[in-house]
Amino acid sequence: MRNEARKDMLISGSAISHKQKLGKTVSMYAIKSYSMKLAAPDCFPGADWYRAVIDLNDDITEVLPYLNAELEGAVYTHDSKVLLWNNGKNKYAFRPNEIVVAPADNSEEAVKLATDIVGQVNNIWIRKEEIEPSFDSKKALPNILDIYKLLPRTNCSECGSPSCMAFAAVLRNDSSKISLCPYISDHDYSSLMS
Ligand code: SF4
Repeated sequence: MRNEARKDMLISGSAISHKQKLGKTVSMYAIKSYSMKLAAPDCFPGADWYRAVIDLNDDITEVLPYLNAELEGAVYTHDSKVLLWNNGKNKYAFRPNEIVVAPADNSEEAVKLATDIVGQVNNIWIRKEEIEPSFDSKKALPNILDIYKLLPRTNCSECGSPSCMAFAAVLRNDSSKISLCPYISDHDYSSLMS
């Protein structure tokens, strides 16, 4: 199936190689109908995996705070109406009329991922009376490499870590530890990370 999907990609010559009409449900669901297309990852030309782009015929703006409350580790930006979620296997981006999930190896996996996430969204919406919606905008943890770039990179170990890279990993989880490095001030670090 991976070869089939790849062949479709090359024949079409566009990012969209596959489109399906899926799912008709009853009105108690947040998502009643949708279509799904398989798209190549924008940032990795030639990659052998795809993004499943699920176009929703329903606006799920009202559902996002409930997803934010229920999906562990979700990062929600209420003003932008965007919720990002990584379940450890796949990455999801929810917007009012779209859900994107990656990676998918082929169209079969993409259809399954789409079916599963639509089912999960609808299940959460059905249980909304039991859920306290969360409008909190959680900020994602900074990238270790981005932190490392802010450090002196002399690997002097005065902070107690064997290298600046190791100290960057410490800082990712606890930025207050920046005081252990005598070569960058707390104020400088905070202003650079903000
Ligand atoms: S004290 Fe600062 S410069 Fe030295 S290893 Fe730690 S982070 Fe790097």
